[in-house]
Amino acid sequence: MKAQFFGDIRVDSIREFDFAIEPGWLFPGVTPEDVAEHEHWLGPQLVEPGTRNLKVLSHAYLIRTRHHTILFDTCCGNDKDAPESPWHRLRMPFLENLARVGVLPEQVDFVMCSHLHADHFGWNTRLQNGEWVPTFPNARYLMSKGEFKWWREAIVTGVGVKPHRKQPWTESVLPVVERGLATFVEDDHAVENEMPDELRYMPLHGHTKHHCGLYLRSGQKDAIFSGDAIHHPIQFTRPDWINASYDPAAATQTLRDLIARCIDTSTKLMTAHFTTPTGWVVSEAGQVRFRFDAD
Ligand SMILES: [Zn+2]
Repeated sequence: MKAQFFGDIRVDSIREFDFAIEPGWLFPGVTPEDVAEHEHWLGPQLVEPGTRNLKVLSHAYLIRTRHHTILFDTCCGNDKDAPESPWHRLRMPFLENLARVGVLPEQVDFVMCSHLHADHFGWNTRLQNGEWVPTFPNARYLMSKGEFKWWREAIVTGVGVKPHRKQPWTESVLPVVERGLATFVEDDHAVENEMPDELRYMPLHGHTKHHCGLYLRSGQKDAIFSGDAIHHPIQFTRPDWINASYDPAAATQTLRDLIARCIDTSTKLMTAHFTTPTGWVVSEAGQVRFRFDAD
């Protein structure tokens, strides 16, 4: 993705890696045959020919305003043990990709995560001399107060979460909190709110209890960073195919509302996992489609 400009705000995609996953891994109950029905409009960029696995991307958004350098979502991270996931012990040049757009880890002012899942907070920390240390030592890590509270209770009690959630929490969330770098905020917390710029968390609940996107406006242009409210363009036709570890019904409603909010408007959708991550939601012959940004 080339740098995108919204008034004075610059947004870059910091790539981590591409992968393809079985439809049922992403959307419980959905089969390759179900996906096959949509192959004609999605094409080989989005559905792997033959297997019908769904192609996705892991990347972060670097947002530079007049005042701050902000990283939204920190992907999976290197060296994280996750044998059940596609991001097991990655060695990806994520920080090199950040440097390529002119930013060193020390220059990041805010880290914002859409939610507290391992593929969105991995680079919160990195392994140094056998210890997980904050990757962005001068940043405030802004976390939804409700999201943090829910996960802390769930990890401690083991209720409502699978056991494999504990290790990423210990490696990627707690080191930041223990060093005093975390700030717990409301789900509509604004980082910029001074005309003509606005950048704030936007509640998109359901995928997790307090999952949030971002709303960005500068001058006449605006965008919604959707986080995991949507994972793959196939969901524009099937918003009921949903990935939610908290409340699938709420997540489905959130996605329907998001589509209704964006369709045929100039609001750009900045997704977390589409292989071409940004574009516009449009109606085409009675169907909901995505007009991908020309890269
Ligand atoms: Zn995700």
